[in-house]
Amino acid sequence: KKPYTRLPEWLKTPVPVGDNFKKIKNDLRGLNLHTVCEEARCPNISDCWGGSDKSAATATIMLMGDTCTRGCRFCSVKTSRAPPPLDPHEPENTAEALSRWGLGYVVLTSVDRDDLADGGARHFASTIMKIKQKAPTMLVEALTGDYWGNLEMVKLVAQSGLDVYAHNVETTEALTPYVRDRRATFRQSIDVLRTAKESKEGLITKTSMMLGLGETEEQIWDALRELRKVDVDVVTFGQYMRPTKRHMKVEEYVTPETFELWRQRALDMGFLYCASGPLVRSSYKAGEAFIENVLK
Ligand code: SF4
Ligand code: SF4
Repeated sequence: KKPYTRLPEWLKTPVPVGDNFKKIKNDLRGLNLHTVCEEARCPNISDCWGGSDKSAATATIMLMGDTCTRGCRFCSVKTSRAPPPLDPHEPENTAEALSRWGLGYVVLTSVDRDDLADGGARHFASTIMKIKQKAPTMLVEALTGDYWGNLEMVKLVAQSGLDVYAHNVETTEALTPYVRDRRATFRQSIDVLRTAKESKEGLITKTSMMLGLGETEEQIWDALRELRKVDVDVVTFGQYMRPTKRHMKVEEYVTPETFELWRQRALDMGFLYCASGPLVRSSYKAGEAFIENVLK
């Protein structure tokens, strides 16, 4: 059990059980959509799904199953060298369900599928194309893996009709070997973000970092400079939370003030916008932020 009493005040948020949460669950019933928001019991659900304006609401959907071929030391997704095959109907069914739900902004993410020749890129791209056919006004963000350095696959996804290409560096370059699966490198992630940006005129690129893993200030500055060099538009910062005892330890609970400081620094460096806070996840209120900062 988690040493809950040792959590700082700002992380003690109740799990959402209010009216809004119930309404959302109702909306989803019968659509057969599995959101990360619900399944991970994300504390931001009322911020992301709530509000009166459904056209700015954000939800995150996980594609390509629940089993990953990698094993990052911070992540609680289950791992196997040979996950079950892809569901060929998933692109169509996901697009159909999303168009009936009618929310404004969807984040599509997936496990890493190093077992597939294309890493699942075609499946991902086909889901995006079908969403854009059925719900042309829905904004789509793809949060992908690194395709093990296969940049042609990054290009394929970037050119599938999406609005935002996200790929998370997760941590600083120095800590990457201790935090992410050995197949992931910071340089490879930078190449993914550069390739996405170059693949489509005007495409917004985005990345996310967890703080509290033992990174130094200088390492964070270095990471931000590398990200700006390849024109990454958006960065988000959130607190690393240890999923179980088998995962890496939290080195530090970063204060809300420090998160705010990094948000300001990121904006000063030229990032278009930045969400930063203890509970922020890379998809946190992404729809609202996109509408405010890109469309207006
Ligand atoms: Fe869903 Fe992401 Fe918002 Fe959490 S932060 S509610 S996972 S969209
Ligand atoms: Fe988790 Fe993604 Fe790492 Fe897979 S690649 S273990 S889903 S963080």
